[in-house]
Amino acid sequence: MSSPRSNTADDLVQLGRPDRFDGRHVNMPLELGSTIVFDTLAAFEAARDARYETGTMYYGRYGNDASFKLETMLAELEGADNVTLTSSGVAAITMALMSFVSPGAHLLVADHVYGNTRVFCDGVLTRMGVQVSYFDPMIGAGVADLIRDTTCAIMFEAPGSGTFEVPDVPAITGAARAAGVPTILDGTWATPIFCQPLALGVDVVIASMSKYLSGHSDCMLGMIACTADHTAVIRKTTFAFGDKTGGQEVFLALRGLRTLKMRMEHFDKAGRDMAAWFAQQPQVKTVLHPAFDTCPGHAHWARDFSGAAGLFGVVFHPCSDEQVRAFVDALNHFGIGVSWGGYESLVLPVTPQRSAGTWDEDGQLVRFNIGLEAPDTLKADLAAALPHLKTAAE
Ligand SMILES: *Cc1c(COP(=O)(O)O)cnc(C)c1O
Repeated sequence: MSSPRSNTADDLVQLGRPDRFDGRHVNMPLELGSTIVFDTLAAFEAARDARYETGTMYYGRYGNDASFKLETMLAELEGADNVTLTSSGVAAITMALMSFVSPGAHLLVADHVYGNTRVFCDGVLTRMGVQVSYFDPMIGAGVADLIRDTTCAIMFEAPGSGTFEVPDVPAITGAARAAGVPTILDGTWATPIFCQPLALGVDVVIASMSKYLSGHSDCMLGMIACTADHTAVIRKTTFAFGDKTGGQEVFLALRGLRTLKMRMEHFDKAGRDMAAWFAQQPQVKTVLHPAFDTCPGHAHWARDFSGAAGLFGVVFHPCSDEQVRAFVDALNHFGIGVSWGGYESLVLPVTPQRSAGTWDEDGQLVRFNIGLEAPDTLKADLAAALPHLKTAAE
């Protein structure tokens, strides 16, 4: 287990840069390329034999100086032994899962996972003979009762995608470690600024870097951070599949990361401000923001996280589809779209999918991503559109 770091602000400035600065640029160059050439066969063979290791230049698909810099920087931020970059957040999920599953093995997946995690588990892993079962993410240490002899991994999120309930991460990882089962956590929401899941006993953290880590809605990338026992299998699996990040995405991620801490600090403050404002509106039934006690698992968030992202859910009093459409369409400062974590505000109605349980909130769930606009601008925009929805009294 790794301990949380305290000098993240310095790391974000100092890491991921050239080793020498004598008359060089501040940043790593944009690095593109396929073949890497060697002067001797012996040097080529040494690189080939070490090709799975971060830092060994062998062939473009295995990485280059800039991508290794990014991997090393992220590993430091996560307190991880190693980070493997992937072409998207979904690729990080699928490569992490493929590192542990085999035909006949049992995989435990939290019921609140990101939609494409479910698509991969039900559509691909099931076809390959993996036995996937879903569990209530709020079960905590009770997950121990669901672990079978054949359980190969536990996949979950903190907080859940779309519904924002925060599981008891140490309770789940404690039960998993006692049974010798690795845990994989999708930590996209919090980023290492607000939570370092490896310090909570998680074995593998994945994140979509298309969100906050790159932070400007201009690139798609993913990462898998892990403890030392899992580094080899994750890198070998990812490279065996040929998953590969582009040089431009690496460049953009290195640039985006420089401002990660100040962006997250803004989203923490602005997100809470907006969520508190929503809670006062007569059309709002409840606010699903982990920093508010109306959100299931709020106490877990308060214990394990040092801040909140700017993505949260609002449940509106029951109303018609047409009313929701009219409300969303009337907003001028919230783009309608998937993804989040850029500089711009977004809105998206959400229908949670459940198979282990049911999602019982009576009302319409809408997800908001708060961007860098002035909160007063966003509030005025929302206030003008809210009359399209019903209040409790109507
Ligand atoms: C967006 C998202 C992903 C997928 O990431 P992509 O980079 O879009 O492939 C995975 N997990 C969570 C929680 C996400 O929000």
